[in-house]
Amino acid sequence: MLTTVAAGPYTIRGISVGGVYTSLAVPELGVLFDAGAPPRSNAALDTILLSHGHVDHIGSLPALLGIRALQGKTRPPRVVMPAEIVGELSAALEAIARLQRWPLAIEPIGMAPGDEIALRGDLRVRAVRTFHPVPSLGYVIVRRISKLRPELLGLSGPEVAARRRAGEDVTTSEERIELAYATDTLASALDHAPDLLRARVLIVECTFLDERKSLADARAGCHIHLDEIVERADRFENEHIVMMHFSQIYRPDEIAGVLDARVPPALRRRIIPFVPVGTSWPG
Ligand SMILES: [Zn+2]
Ligand SMILES: [Zn+2]
Repeated sequence: MLTTVAAGPYTIRGISVGGVYTSLAVPELGVLFDAGAPPRSNAALDTILLSHGHVDHIGSLPALLGIRALQGKTRPPRVVMPAEIVGELSAALEAIARLQRWPLAIEPIGMAPGDEIALRGDLRVRAVRTFHPVPSLGYVIVRRISKLRPELLGLSGPEVAARRRAGEDVTTSEERIELAYATDTLASALDHAPDLLRARVLIVECTFLDERKSLADARAGCHIHLDEIVERADRFENEHIVMMHFSQIYRPDEIAGVLDARVPPALRRRIIPFVPVGTSWPG
């Protein structure tokens, strides 16, 4: 039932069908993006990043929390989401907890575009603006790397150590965008948040692929059409682009062919369609 792809050093494991359900784990980073499906193997992750409150992205959160409890995890997961929906999501979970007479605890964290929180080690999560009819966010995961200050590069190890002992700050910090996630948005999110285009791995929706859905209709629903990816083909600096949230009007086994026919080769080589093997979507 789950799809797994490798994008550089990262594994993306989960399920995604536009409007039906989307939930993707990246185990190397310890994060789950969205909670539209409750696969058992994704329930133990301690940080859940919710893009928005549509049910195909949050509908299975109570089930994931229940499975997590069954797995013996007692600490509530951190659930990151647009700040505007913290009250409503918490109230919804409380209602279900009352219904089942069993708690469904989370540590809710509301974010606005530009906000950052620590993830683990040298990794941080930053929220970026996306454009959908409801409050929504994309996320980038950045790694802060400290490097020797360039003017000290010619010094030997012991010389640098001596300067450090003398109290000099010998390092400078730089950030690398490891992975980004943007779904359920107008394509203009890619223009407003260039971090998305610079991430080593970009996970991005492309709900509609060809004339079976017009560009105007895709925009009316605040979703990305492949026309808009092709239009920006030269601007993606990503090593890998995991494309997902495809509409079920396309069969999973025809998507790679549509991409081959429509996307310039230099970009197509980097696109990994997140689809199951075979002719039908799971479920
Ligand atoms: Zn969706
Ligand atoms: Zn949506």
